Amino acid sequence: MNYCSKCGSRVFSKIPEGDNRERKICENCSHIFYESSKIVVVCIPQWQDRILLCRRAIEPRKGHWCLPGGYLETGETLEEGAQREVYEETFATVENLKLFSKADLIHLNLIMFCFLGQMKDETFGTGEECLEVRLFEVPELQQMELAFNAHRLSMEAFSQSPESGNIHSFRIEED
Ligand SMILES: [Zn+2]
Repeated sequence: MNYCSKCGSRVFSKIPEGDNRERKICENCSHIFYESSKIVVVCIPQWQDRILLCRRAIEPRKGHWCLPGGYLETGETLEEGAQREVYEETFATVENLKLFSKADLIHLNLIMFCFLGQMKDETFGTGEECLEVRLFEVPELQQMELAFNAHRLSMEAFSQSPESGNIHSFRIEED
């Protein structure tokens, strides 16, 4: 970000008085832009003993399999965001969402919340951001290299113990 979203002037980095870290500050109107992490919501969609995954049609990690998910929008809960992302990417409807894991992606300023969700029925398709969508048996997943560390760690935890209960928590500093 180089220009102020309030007045259009240049912004520069400076530690404001009474603060302890650098912020972007507008040289004209002195507005301080505080930045915080974004939230990503993903889901482990279950249909009987199988899990629905997508193969990415977009970068990063184009061509790799991953859990359906994306950025939380304003005005929706974490669960609603996860349901929406599953639907956009796979046309599947998931219900009864339960928080399964949380990951702090320090290097990306992201926080990921991963839910278990039950597919309402076996209906699914291939959304715009996917090359392919399909159901996998859990043992098959253990052989797979999922696109992102946060997805990989969540699926490893799921393979070992598919119940939600203790929320798994991961600190991730690289992909
Ligand atoms: Zn300004």
